[in-house]
Amino acid sequence: MSRFLNQQYQSLEAYTPGEQPRDMQYIKLNTNESPYPPAPSVVEAMTGEQVELLRLYSDPTAKGLKDKLAGLYGVKPENVFISNGSDEVLNFAFMAFGGNGAVFPDISYGFYEVYADLYAINAEKIPLESDFSIDYRKYCGKNKLVVIANPNAPTGMTIPVWQIEEIVKSNPDSLVLIDEAYVDFGGETCLPLIGTYDNLLVTRTYSKSRCLAGGRLGYAFGSPAVIADLEKIKYSTNPYNINRLTLLLGEKTVEAESYYQEKCREIEATRAWTTQQLAGLGFTVLPSKANFIFVKTDQMDGGELYKKLKEKGILVRHFTNPRICQFNRVTIGTKQQMQTLIDTVKEVLYENQ
Ligand SMILES: *Cc1c(COP(=O)(O)O)cnc(C)c1O
Repeated sequence: MSRFLNQQYQSLEAYTPGEQPRDMQYIKLNTNESPYPPAPSVVEAMTGEQVELLRLYSDPTAKGLKDKLAGLYGVKPENVFISNGSDEVLNFAFMAFGGNGAVFPDISYGFYEVYADLYAINAEKIPLESDFSIDYRKYCGKNKLVVIANPNAPTGMTIPVWQIEEIVKSNPDSLVLIDEAYVDFGGETCLPLIGTYDNLLVTRTYSKSRCLAGGRLGYAFGSPAVIADLEKIKYSTNPYNINRLTLLLGEKTVEAESYYQEKCREIEATRAWTTQQLAGLGFTVLPSKANFIFVKTDQMDGGELYKKLKEKGILVRHFTNPRICQFNRVTIGTKQQMQTLIDTVKEVLYENQ
């Protein structure tokens, strides 16, 4: 730390992204990326001509992409915000709507806590129930920024849309943010509620189901007034927040919707297969609607399993929080990658005996 850093940031603990090691070729099941490439039409859109156009600024209104997403999801372009990854819209939302404090589950996406710290927002963390579910009643009538990932991370578990509606209804004077980063893998979206409630913001990302984590593209749906607030923050920080190439790929991705639907169904099938295999080996696997599963076994310490898998070339995500330190979060890869995972887990358990 330099001696110039503002006092308010000196104790800030930054978010720790999942490791992206360069030392060897791992089977990478630790950051919930897609194992599949973007659709061929998306890849082909990246021409030399497009790269040359980088001399010009990108469209700060992102109109082309907003129109496409609005068409795909049956909303108006005024209901859509485009962001540099969904982390950016989460950042803006905490900045803009966290004035009365924020509330989120104790086990959820780790970034929520960092944003709360960054903006000196008083954060209330509500423990998940003993089965890792969310009791929606505990989020009703809070009158603070409510943030819930649905499906939740790293559990993969969902809460039904009618319970989200109860939360939204009971907090009319504060925003409810539902992070739908993983909704495309079998979850149920609460998007239709934005027509009825002006205090709901739904965030999405291209990083998981759209095979574009490195492109950094996210979006959000909300009432026109809430979207206008987010635009105000964006134009006060970085108007050209999305680069030209990413905007183009984002539009092409919408046009290739059926390719991505197919890949999501493949992930779901592989998730079911992997769950069954691990259960057969005596693992506890939480019921997941995401592109990852959260697993533990009584036969081996969670941190130890993580280490042994890494030594054998498979990266999964381990968290040190005592409540979940026996678990590992495993991204669903291709069927072949998951077969290798199962074989390697068997090997590790055998060597551990
Ligand atoms: C991955 C993830 C995000 C952010 O993804 P971006 O790459 O910034 O779009 C947001 N929320 C949750 C719960 C995630 O897991």
